[in-house]
Amino acid sequence: MIQRLLLLPLVTLIAHAEVRVITDFEGGNAEVVKLDQATKTLRIMPALHEGRGWPCWWSFKLEGLTAGEEFTLEVQAQTKPFRDKTVLAAAWCQPRQAWISVDGTTWKPSAKGTLSAEKVMSYTIKAEAAQMSLAWGPPFVPSDADKLLTDIAAKLPEAKRFELAKTRGGRLVNGIRIGDENASHQVWIGSRQHAWEAGGSQVGRGFITWYASDEAKALRAKTCLHYIPIMDVDNAAIGAGGKEAIPRDHNRDWAAEPIYPEVAAAQRMIRDIHVKHGLDVFIDLHNPGADDPIFFFGPFAFERMTGIQQRNYQRWIDLAAASIIEPLKVQPKYRFANYVKTDEERGRMSSGWVRANAGDSTISVTLETGWNSPLMSVEGYGKVGAGLGRALSAYIGENPRRE
Ligand SMILES: [Zn+2]
Repeated sequence: MIQRLLLLPLVTLIAHAEVRVITDFEGGNAEVVKLDQATKTLRIMPALHEGRGWPCWWSFKLEGLTAGEEFTLEVQAQTKPFRDKTVLAAAWCQPRQAWISVDGTTWKPSAKGTLSAEKVMSYTIKAEAAQMSLAWGPPFVPSDADKLLTDIAAKLPEAKRFELAKTRGGRLVNGIRIGDENASHQVWIGSRQHAWEAGGSQVGRGFITWYASDEAKALRAKTCLHYIPIMDVDNAAIGAGGKEAIPRDHNRDWAAEPIYPEVAAAQRMIRDIHVKHGLDVFIDLHNPGADDPIFFFGPFAFERMTGIQQRNYQRWIDLAAASIIEPLKVQPKYRFANYVKTDEERGRMSSGWVRANAGDSTISVTLETGWNSPLMSVEGYGKVGAGLGRALSAYIGENPRRE
């Protein structure tokens, strides 16, 4: 009895000091490389989901922290290849700042990390509570998408939620339609064809929140908008990267026979909208590479375009440059996805497919919002989204169908 009494406090003490890594939640991902309880140093790499694309996204919770004490988070590249013999470069999983949260809702950047010669990024983080969430960037998972759509639908009586498709994994891909089906202008905006690019959904949230605000009243009155917060729900749900998945990247699946039901459903709906009413604007939201700014990928044929096509793409980029100004300005000129080499592959990208299946007055572009900055918070991304809404308002306000 005496022995037990003496042992108990010691056991309790050790149990409290033990730091634990938790990943079994929506969008959770981390493979623990090592965890040194004595020095409070945790080394992780993004866990590989075989065939599910780039191992770059990470998101986990730490338990057993002591508020006020510092700990070290080290992030290295996944060592196994994600496709054939290709190992993903470390830069994709090493933002300058890690993103941290105490309540799982409010996210802030950590102090800047230090990159070692061995390509290990090291962040010193001060614990603010016994449990904290840490991630590559502010996460946006399927339950966030549901909450967002519910909020928008509650705010706008004219909004109508819809199920775009059921994924291969049996999950629902949800969207929302705002406005009269027969409105004079038709717009489609979506994100997360690449599951790791949570910033795309954050920009989308900023956009749709702006779109539901009073400032967008005039735009809403003449527009029917379709908005999809997450396309690759399966990979977003399990914390897989999605990009270059096997057998196909979502954004190379816009073929005659898509593999992913949500891509096939989007094609059907977009085609239908265009045939019945004419599609004015298609925008796909993404995050680019570690050193990239905010920019649009435009149509490969831009320099050779004439007439209404040329006018509309030029007006779009001019109006976007005037409207997307916070927290950073969007580049005033299009970039082109020249790394995609063949016309066949270019045609299987969402923006290319839409260009081929819509009309002369349609614009189809990709907004790439740079992520590797402390400015790219939930609020920062939200401002990009609001700027996108203002650009859309100005653009539709000019009537892109005019001769
Ligand atoms: Zn992407």
